[in-house]
Amino acid sequence: MQFSRIRSGRSTFAALLLLTLFILQVPAQMAARPELSSLTPEEKALVERISLDSLKGFTNAIAADEMEGRGTMQTGGDKAAEWIASRYKELGLKPLGDKGSFLQSIKFRETVLGEGTHFKMDGADLVHGKDWAIVPQTASEKTVKGQMVFVAYGIVADSINRNDLKGVNLKNKIVVMIDGPPANIPKEAWDKQNASQIFRGMIMQAGAKGIVYIGHGREKDPPEVLIDYFKRRQISLADEPGPLPLYPPVIYASSEAAAKFFEKSGVAYKDALAMAERNDFKAFELNREAEIAIKPKNTKGTSSNVVGYIEGSDPKLKEEAIVFSAHYDAYGVLDGKVYNGAADNALGTAEMLAVAEAYSKMDPKPKRSMIFLAVTGEEYGLYGSKFWAQNPTWDIKKVSANLNLDTIGSEVYGPIKLVVGYGAEHSTLGPMLDEVAASYGIKVIPDPAPEEKVFLRSDHYSFVERGVPALMLLCGPEGTGESLVARIKAWEKLHYHQPSDDVMGDWHWEGAKTVADLMGILGLRLSNQEGMPSWNKSSRFGELKRGNTGELPEED
Ligand SMILES: [Zn+2]
Repeated sequence: MQFSRIRSGRSTFAALLLLTLFILQVPAQMAARPELSSLTPEEKALVERISLDSLKGFTNAIAADEMEGRGTMQTGGDKAAEWIASRYKELGLKPLGDKGSFLQSIKFRETVLGEGTHFKMDGADLVHGKDWAIVPQTASEKTVKGQMVFVAYGIVADSINRNDLKGVNLKNKIVVMIDGPPANIPKEAWDKQNASQIFRGMIMQAGAKGIVYIGHGREKDPPEVLIDYFKRRQISLADEPGPLPLYPPVIYASSEAAAKFFEKSGVAYKDALAMAERNDFKAFELNREAEIAIKPKNTKGTSSNVVGYIEGSDPKLKEEAIVFSAHYDAYGVLDGKVYNGAADNALGTAEMLAVAEAYSKMDPKPKRSMIFLAVTGEEYGLYGSKFWAQNPTWDIKKVSANLNLDTIGSEVYGPIKLVVGYGAEHSTLGPMLDEVAASYGIKVIPDPAPEEKVFLRSDHYSFVERGVPALMLLCGPEGTGESLVARIKAWEKLHYHQPSDDVMGDWHWEGAKTVADLMGILGLRLSNQEGMPSWNKSSRFGELKRGNTGELPEED
């Protein structure tokens, strides 16, 4: 803890000396970073106080095995929440949780598949979590049994003279199919028409008892990846409606299991895939019987957001606040494995804490108040941030902006030279980012992977839904958006939401400090500027007001 170097109770002389040293340091460092000279003295002082050592210390503590992967509704999550609350207390933050505490408690429900759950084919068990897993939204309690039939993509489209369901009776069957599109139909067009949902709906209307998806080998996320997610415990809000009881189970099966499905059909799995690509495909029976029994086990419990604030120094502006957010939850302990979530998102939480630490040392404090919101339940659906945004412990109309620190560790690949501002194009936060990034010689680039829809997938979106302009950064080293995406994808393949997402020896920590610097300076400018940021009229969020309760306008 960096505190120790600036302990209260030191003699004035020592303090003076320190100050002198400090002042002496600044020019030397700025000399090393001439571009930073465009920062104000207050911003330079802030950057100096954003400590690399603290950042490392926080990250290692949060990502340590002792935190048991900080699972929502698990002891690790509670431990992490207490640990963060203690840091807030040490930094002198004021509590903004329930009943004068730092914790905002949220009621959750955990669902696992219990005793009696099985997928049997001709009486032989397939292994849950390896051969198969169920789409959580369809996991209501039920047992279905039926003959298996293969319908390729289940396409019924006169326009291309194709009917995959012709000539088979689907009533009471277990339908084996591929999730589209076939190679000869563009994915964008397919998704735009919700084709997967439409064809799945037709199969259910035809009386199918269950659907088993198999892979075609061209997927972004092959069935094995989906099985790895769907096999995990599922978390939802306690009062959230569960899966629709009448909805047939929708299962994903691995390629290994899929090959077995075809063993008695006279057609090998790979040949069936080739046939499925043809518009003249004809459905066929697999001469196998499947029995799927789903026995969900629900447990209720709680987990907490951790909320504290630094009160603004301006008598009027202190009523308004900037909200920094970061999700501290990771996947916890699953099947005896600890998911430490070091990059995602111990690092983001540590970056937020390092900013809070730096602000806490400022005198005077920033004009507007600074809220630090460490949320839980992000991995399961942005639950913590949605809960706070829906049950804010500060007047949402007086929330100036949200700065969200969620990461997959691209900032520790090397010195930061590129930044993507998710949300920047929608509000006046965009030009602010351009300015701060320029003072670091960092290039602002457009989202290099819009198809990933990252803007919708992290906690800042909960603030957008309430009409609050928000920003999240993705930072990377020298290169292009494409090279950054390629490197991220390589990391994701190995470590994303896996037990292996640990702090690595080759991390370039200065990159993480730069992220904290950028967000710290943005927060300071937002805190001291005249008005609150606003939405761009050109943005689909242009008409939103803080406190919004309506649905958000659809994406174009
Ligand atoms: Zn994350």
